[in-house]
Amino acid sequence: MQILFLGAPGAGKGTQCKRLSARLKAPHLSSGDLLREAVKCGSAAGIRAKEFMDRGVLVPDEVLIAMFREKLQAPECGKGFILDGFPRNLAQAESLDALLLDINKNLTVVINLQVDDDLLMERICGRRVCANKSCAMPFHVKFAPPKKEGFCDACLAELMTRSDDKAELVSARLQTYNEQTAPLIDYYQTRGLLKTIDGNGDQEAIFAELLKAVQVPA
Ligand code: AMP
Repeated sequence: MQILFLGAPGAGKGTQCKRLSARLKAPHLSSGDLLREAVKCGSAAGIRAKEFMDRGVLVPDEVLIAMFREKLQAPECGKGFILDGFPRNLAQAESLDALLLDINKNLTVVINLQVDDDLLMERICGRRVCANKSCAMPFHVKFAPPKKEGFCDACLAELMTRSDDKAELVSARLQTYNEQTAPLIDYYQTRGLLKTIDGNGDQEAIFAELLKAVQVPA
């Protein structure tokens, strides 16, 4: 199955994609995680991406397109994948169409995780993530607190806040989403691929809806 997720920052895409990835045994390709990884290891793409990420605006399309061209052709994507955060504008969506055509694949379904604006800010600002890269378990100070404050339940490493989850950058990221990414809802609706899920509720209920949408038994 080839699944694509749309949703504003804070909609819960990362959390739901990780769960779905474990259930389907399909790789979860998060553009944000891949870019942060590239920044951390100081690759040419990472050095280029950092100045845009620090401002909460989109990294140039060609960086993402090259990154996903390589990822989608890797053997681990042979039986399916879950795309999270790419494409993020019309040009990227058209490039993805061309890329999928090249490798003889298509999208099975596009999930639009819809969350009300006032909840997005609260969700983003309370987000924490395990600093241990190989764990990276997500938490939230209010909605999914760790058992011991500041530490990961799974591996006991410290939790951190993403640098772009600070309040001053969040409105820029939400504006970028509304202006550039939200038009993709229509793009995929027109192609008959879109399924919208209400992402305002609790994680379990949303995951149950998601399984129904991708037609996987609960
Ligand atoms: P995310 O973790 O998905 O919120 O992404 C964090 C940041 O990475 C965004 O604010 C952008 O600067 C950048 N980014 C992620 N995905 C893309 C994309 N598809 N196109 C351009 N920039 C992206």
